[in-house]
Amino acid sequence: PIQAQRETRDYQASDAAHHIHAFLDQKALNAEGPRVIVGGERLHLWDNDGKRYLDGMSGLWCTNLGYGRKDLTAAATRQLEQLPYYNMFFHTTHPAVIELSELLFSLLPGHYSHAVYTNSGSEANEVLIRTVRRYWQILGKPEKRVMIGRWNGYHGSTLGATALGGMKFMHEMGGMLPDIAHIDEPYWFAQGGDLTPEEFGLRAARQLEEKILELGADKVAAFVAEPFQGAGGMIFPPESYWPEIQRICRKYDVLLCADEVIGGFGRTGEWFAHQHFGFEPDTLSIAKGLTSGYIPMGGLILSKRMAEVLVEQGGVFAHGLTYSGHPVAAAVAIANLKALRDEGVVAQVKADTGPYLQQCLREVFGNHPLVGDIQGVGMVAALQLAEDKVSRKRFANENDIAWRCRTIGFEEGVIIRSTLGRMIMAPALVANRSEIDELVAKTKKAVDRTA
Ligand code: PLP
Repeated sequence: PIQAQRETRDYQASDAAHHIHAFLDQKALNAEGPRVIVGGERLHLWDNDGKRYLDGMSGLWCTNLGYGRKDLTAAATRQLEQLPYYNMFFHTTHPAVIELSELLFSLLPGHYSHAVYTNSGSEANEVLIRTVRRYWQILGKPEKRVMIGRWNGYHGSTLGATALGGMKFMHEMGGMLPDIAHIDEPYWFAQGGDLTPEEFGLRAARQLEEKILELGADKVAAFVAEPFQGAGGMIFPPESYWPEIQRICRKYDVLLCADEVIGGFGRTGEWFAHQHFGFEPDTLSIAKGLTSGYIPMGGLILSKRMAEVLVEQGGVFAHGLTYSGHPVAAAVAIANLKALRDEGVVAQVKADTGPYLQQCLREVFGNHPLVGDIQGVGMVAALQLAEDKVSRKRFANENDIAWRCRTIGFEEGVIIRSTLGRMIMAPALVANRSEIDELVAKTKKAVDRTA
């Protein structure tokens, strides 16, 4: 079938005629032509020229179980035949979403109780903004509505999510809103100066306290951040950071909201990234790994404390999404979570394959002339490109170098991503040692050729 597609279709011309791609200069892409990905199995993808790639990014941080899982497609088929659509609007619900929630909350820490399901991570964060503001309204504090995010944080591309995120170039393209503020990202390599990482972690966290005092605690509704920052350059904060952020949020009665869209569902070796970093958020935004990306689904998870206010005191919340808790997505999520749990996938990332990936990267790139720092945990890692490791001097054109490295990666048959001068990888959690070896070896070839 792949051969037939190649002979009968000019995919690239049609793609150029009809699509605006994400985060790219469309004209430049049209000149180059996008790769046309037609199939996948476990960690491998192949394109319509038959070229194989080791996917080091789980698609877009999605395919935690890898490609080609028959149990997930069977779950979707069964549900499509049983009940392809129904909703949670006017006094109705359905078994698939109920079973999903029973399973999901059995995997979450005990202080979470309620979910609002969405189709994506962006939507989860839109729901977050309204839910947080509604929460403070119900408690008689409607003026508590400012959401604080972080510069270079990423929470999605819809309007609220863009504003909450800290990508200035996105704000400049029609993506800012009032009552949103930002503090710096906790990136020791770039901003730590002479401080130790732990000293720097405390200093970075205290920016939140300064911002709350500047705005007035009676105006600040929530602090929102990714436990480790992904699209904005893969930043793993020092250990001191999150406990201090939590202390500050509690002190000023500010909700602590974790965006777990890429960190959730086993990426760090814990079920959720906040568990790895040792803090207790009030809300969790989820998506991607919830269904291993086989079908769109996201959600906002609420603590018991918040849910109690919304349910017991809130009355009607004028809010609803047609596809919230979609039965087919719920069925796929159930199959996905059961596989992650029952096949010991998350446990294996923590005990074996995660440490193995981290160790291999440090062995191979520890003394590489192009690499200034290696960060990561479990099945997620970043190589900071740098001119000088000791003084932490970065290349002036680090984005161009990283982009070249990623392009050479494609030629070498490995998909890694470049972001803000860092090469990042987040392979499927089912990766075994030989697949990790292949990922690291091909990445080394790409970095060597970039040097
Ligand atoms: N939050 C984080 C941390 C993300 O990385 C992303 C997407 O990459 C999103 C939210 C947005 O999710 P989506 O693209 O499903 O809307």
